[in-house]
Amino acid sequence: MTATRSIPTVKLLINGEFVESTTSEWRDVINPATQEVLARVPFATQDEMNAAVASAKAAFKTWRKTPIGARARIFLKYQQLIRENMKELAAILTAEQGKTLPDAEGDVFRGLEVVEHAAGIGNLQLGELANNVAGGVDTYTLLQPLGVCAGITPFNFPAMIPLWMFPMAIATGNTFVLKPSEQDPMVTMRLAELALQAGIPPGVLNVIHGGAEAVNLICDHPDIKAVSFVGSTKVGTHVYNRASQNGKRAQCMMGAKNHAIVLPDAHKQQTLNNLVGSAFGAAGQRCMALPVVILVGEAQAWLPELVEKAKTLKVNAGCEPGTDVGPVVSCAALERINGLIERGVQEGAELLLDGRHPQVAGYQDGNFVGPTIFSAVSTDMTIYKEEIFGPVLCVLQAATMDEAIAIINANPNGNGTALFTRSGAAARHFQEEIDVGQVGINVPIPVPVPTFSFTGSRGSKLGDLGPYGKQVVQFYTQTKTVTQRWFDEDEVGGPVNTTITLK
Ligand code: NAD
Repeated sequence: MTATRSIPTVKLLINGEFVESTTSEWRDVINPATQEVLARVPFATQDEMNAAVASAKAAFKTWRKTPIGARARIFLKYQQLIRENMKELAAILTAEQGKTLPDAEGDVFRGLEVVEHAAGIGNLQLGELANNVAGGVDTYTLLQPLGVCAGITPFNFPAMIPLWMFPMAIATGNTFVLKPSEQDPMVTMRLAELALQAGIPPGVLNVIHGGAEAVNLICDHPDIKAVSFVGSTKVGTHVYNRASQNGKRAQCMMGAKNHAIVLPDAHKQQTLNNLVGSAFGAAGQRCMALPVVILVGEAQAWLPELVEKAKTLKVNAGCEPGTDVGPVVSCAALERINGLIERGVQEGAELLLDGRHPQVAGYQDGNFVGPTIFSAVSTDMTIYKEEIFGPVLCVLQAATMDEAIAIINANPNGNGTALFTRSGAAARHFQEEIDVGQVGINVPIPVPVPTFSFTGSRGSKLGDLGPYGKQVVQFYTQTKTVTQRWFDEDEVGGPVNTTITLK
């Protein structure tokens, strides 16, 4: 008789309780390095999802009036708990997502920074006051929470991106329904447990699981006031349109095809290290990765050295020490990436480094693809036009920086970009002319720290306000402008005023 291991189930979080779903639809959460089934995640029923929203709606009645200091102290406690559990969180993340352990800690850490920012909510959610805007009249603003808000997150940052969303929404006085990626929900659930341990009251944070049905319920539910989405352009555009048509606020951070420009005066070794790290780190599954580099003029001669550096990266399971490139998230992702590499070859790009089918001792079943480099790539090729989201670097050439800028500005995406140079004048020209949200000058992955807001230009973002930083306080609050005047008991009433001016 063979003993069967019982597979844990991922729970829903409704009204402060971690509950087993009653659904009949489940999906396996799979370790991408081994294909081991780590857990089963439910696709929640309509009743369960409605119960989550109802619990958030009920909790809002008291949470919105909870003193700002009490809200801030929960996030002070929460950041401490995340720090104390960092290793465990990173290990869960690596097992279900594939990235290396140090990178998984980075994923948690970048989210932790937003939690720290949320702990400073007392300074962030301040209104304004103008004294004596007319005789005895003052005007001031209140930034009031909206009600139930919701977040939909992608697979590639299962700690950081949920932490971009619910801490700031809750710190500003809203309640929240989160729908994590169904591919790797386990670290998100551990973060939800720690959030409750930090003191988030029942109903203030709820978590549902599922796919398109859950997303559509969030977009349609009349009690949800705002939706924050991070994921692909295709799904994000759908979410933005559907949620906006239903009168909700929406912000959608979407797909990318980030380019670096390398000028010949750049610091050569630093630049090559940065290019290799940002093209192949996290197996290219970062929205801020650099999958395209444009070598300008004499910098084109650096290509052989770039290839040699990429060859030194170690492809292995994310949990193994010294790994540079872990597996991609799923067999489907691996198949798609390998297919796109084949397409690049067919369309005439030059495959300088072919990372397909690497042999990884001890992990024969993992979804591995090693660093892959194409040169002679043109902008009409599929490998250039599609977001590959794997460790594949496309190298283009340009005679001048302006030619390179024109290529970037003509790309439909505008998420991140970087320029490598020693020239301040060139850097300033680039900063002024480039139409991309996140700009790095000798910084390959310029993700803004939480005092600033993540942004995006053109096809990479829909909605005006970013998911953290100062902008997110505006996103999660309604501005109310109060104009007030008080009369003394003995004040003599003036004449009836039929004009609109206050005197
Ligand atoms: P995805 O769009 O497939 O999934 C995102 C979310 O949408 C998930 O929660 C998923 O369950 C849900 N979803 C998937 N298909 C759906 C459908 N048909 N209808 C409704 N909902 C659906 O994205 P992903 O593959 O998880 O993540 C990778 C993508 O996210 C890449 O395009 C990457 O560039 C992007 N991303 C962008 C940013 C940013 O800040 N701009 C950050 C991280 C990732």
